[in-house]
Amino acid sequence: MALAHNLGFPRIGRDRELKKAQEAYWKGELDEAGLRAVGRELRARHWQVQKDAGIELLPVGDFAWYDQVLTHSLTFGVIPSRFRSHDAARPTLQTLFAMARGTVGDSCCGGAHAQEMTKWFDSNYHYLVPEFTADQQFALSWEQLFEEVDEAQALGHAVKPVVIGPLTYLWLGKAKGGDFDRLELLDRLLPLYDQILNRLAAQGVEWVQIDEPILALDLPQAWKNAYERVYNILQRAPLKKLIATYFGGLEDNLGLAANLPVDGLHIDLVRAPEQYPTILDRLPAYKVLSLGLVNGRNVWRCDLGQALQVLRHAHERLGERLWIAPSCSLLHSPVDLAREDQLDAELRSWLAFAVQKCQEVALLAKAINAPQASDVAAALAQSQAVQASRAASPRIHKPDVQARLAAVKPADSQRHSAFAQRIVKQRAGLDLPAFPTTTIGSFPQTSAIRLARQAYKQGKLTEADYVEAMHSEIRHAVKIQEDLGLDVLVHGEAERNDMVEYFAEQIDGYAFTRFGWVQSYGSRCVKPAVIVGDLSRTKAMTVEWITYAQGLTSKVMKGMLTGPVTMLMWSFPREDVSREVQARQLALAIRDEVLDLEAAGIRVVQIDEAAFREGLPLRHGAWAHYLEWATEAFRLCASGVRDETQIHTHMCYSEFNDVIESIAAMDADVITIETSRSDMELLAAFERFAYPNEIGPGVYDIHSPRVPTREEMVKLLRKAARRIPAERLWVNPDCGLKTRGWPETEAALVNMVAAARELRGTA
Ligand code: GLN
Ligand code: ZN
Repeated sequence: MALAHNLGFPRIGRDRELKKAQEAYWKGELDEAGLRAVGRELRARHWQVQKDAGIELLPVGDFAWYDQVLTHSLTFGVIPSRFRSHDAARPTLQTLFAMARGTVGDSCCGGAHAQEMTKWFDSNYHYLVPEFTADQQFALSWEQLFEEVDEAQALGHAVKPVVIGPLTYLWLGKAKGGDFDRLELLDRLLPLYDQILNRLAAQGVEWVQIDEPILALDLPQAWKNAYERVYNILQRAPLKKLIATYFGGLEDNLGLAANLPVDGLHIDLVRAPEQYPTILDRLPAYKVLSLGLVNGRNVWRCDLGQALQVLRHAHERLGERLWIAPSCSLLHSPVDLAREDQLDAELRSWLAFAVQKCQEVALLAKAINAPQASDVAAALAQSQAVQASRAASPRIHKPDVQARLAAVKPADSQRHSAFAQRIVKQRAGLDLPAFPTTTIGSFPQTSAIRLARQAYKQGKLTEADYVEAMHSEIRHAVKIQEDLGLDVLVHGEAERNDMVEYFAEQIDGYAFTRFGWVQSYGSRCVKPAVIVGDLSRTKAMTVEWITYAQGLTSKVMKGMLTGPVTMLMWSFPREDVSREVQARQLALAIRDEVLDLEAAGIRVVQIDEAAFREGLPLRHGAWAHYLEWATEAFRLCASGVRDETQIHTHMCYSEFNDVIESIAAMDADVITIETSRSDMELLAAFERFAYPNEIGPGVYDIHSPRVPTREEMVKLLRKAARRIPAERLWVNPDCGLKTRGWPETEAALVNMVAAARELRGTA
């Protein structure tokens, strides 16, 4: 019998119950017992849903009060000293949330800053980075996993606890205070794994899932070598171990992974189907092979017929040793499609969320184990009908969009002249001072703005009243910028809920769910738009707002758009065409908008590519291809304009060392980036590469309400001017100001403009 199992289920709840409980708890509106009750209720419900769907081994340990990596840090006692209170011997839920969110000090410096957060591989989930010290000690300090195993068993479930493997856990952390290799901590950490596995075995657990997703990365040799040693030691624990890999192929780690002395291996065949035959050949004959064939990272229904072809083949070879699962934890999927009562029937028939994905996994197992079962044939027929309806749907396949893409010529992604010529014309036309000042686009999203948008969406505010409310915000923003003496103004983005959703709503080929929430971090959830079909712009998306703003001032007004790569990265993409094709279609839609803005008299257009870097593949070998199509997509949307029109781009980070050539290949006239927190050190990449175009290195950190002084910003700018020729420097904040309040925004911008004037010598 092939076994249906799951690697992890979303913990947020189908109505984001966990988010609501966390936030109520943080506000003091819910006590700890209340919060714990919500968690218990969610876990019980999720196990039951999975079981009802037909999952035979249920994951335990996928629930977390904030983040699963943080749970591991507590389990191992990896608690930075700033969170250790003297009286409490053991960490508490307060400790956990303090590590996740920081604590507010009573006076200036009593607070402990939160642990750093970063992206979980190439997903949009963020985990809390473990902090290791050279003398790091590990001690079992948190009972959650064992308690939840008891809890599930008491409910009568067959469970498979999930732990992050020791090497992946160490890899995800950071060495703090002193230069040491975190691999040196391994020998101290391993006894804890031994304890954990033994305790789970004592609880009657038969199988444990040990996640080692770093096996899908390019690993240094020392880390590869450590694998065998680690699992030789852990194999003594008296229970069966399944190593789970996901988000990519094993490639050069394949032999290593296949031969680890454990009882099973899970591989991701959605991301890396090509690894299947080799794994089958290399897998020792005693081992279980779990095939991840249902995509845990997207919202589309699985093509069951196609998956079954692989499974039938695998079953012939493996028999009982075949397991079936989603490709990765369903943490990255929305919870339950049944909640979507307002989606049109056709689209709904194409989608599957976590609950439905569990059903798909179970159905695949059934199709192997009991092919004659009556519901199997029906489900397969239905899956085939879904694939057929998608393949033929005019909602997906649009000949005009495809024809336009096919007609794109190399010259379309090339500005008419080189930067050196363009900049001369731009300088003449824009007439800006040295060290021109600007902002990144958004101004504070006040509750008045959000209320107006909500009221309009609910039909409580007429269109005319809504437009007037937004115009009034624009007037306010323009007036403030003029008073501040900024050089290139923005309209403030009051009308935008989100930099992707705002455009997606106006691009044909996108669809939206109402409950398709996915955890981003802690209580933060995102609801990505879904790319359903070929994408095209039907009418101008921003021109009215921007020209209204331009009409209020004689200063230069910068048009503000979101770039194709970011649109793609922050949406659920199609699976029937490549990411590249989707990016190019988006690029053409945005190109039309750029040209409309230019035709309407807008002389500077910024195209944000906040997610450009995060699109980088996990494996270096795949970088070049990505960078090529991603830069090309950007150029395709930016290159239709005249030399005189200045194209800006913005990126919310500063790690450019390894991609600087591609950043240059985007050929934006001006790039604004995040540098203030790194003290301009990260401009080194631009200097070394002799980056040719203009740069605005952010001079103040917008993530904090703190108002930077003029002196600080002058210092940063002088530092920047040592690396970048002064005539190519812009002066701007790190990112958009939508999360800030007006008072601190104005105060900071006064200082920023003063800093620029000081550099010009006109202060
Ligand atoms: N223009 C956007 C803003 O100012 C950019 C945001 C971002 O890059 N994340 O909000
Ligand atoms: Zn930004």
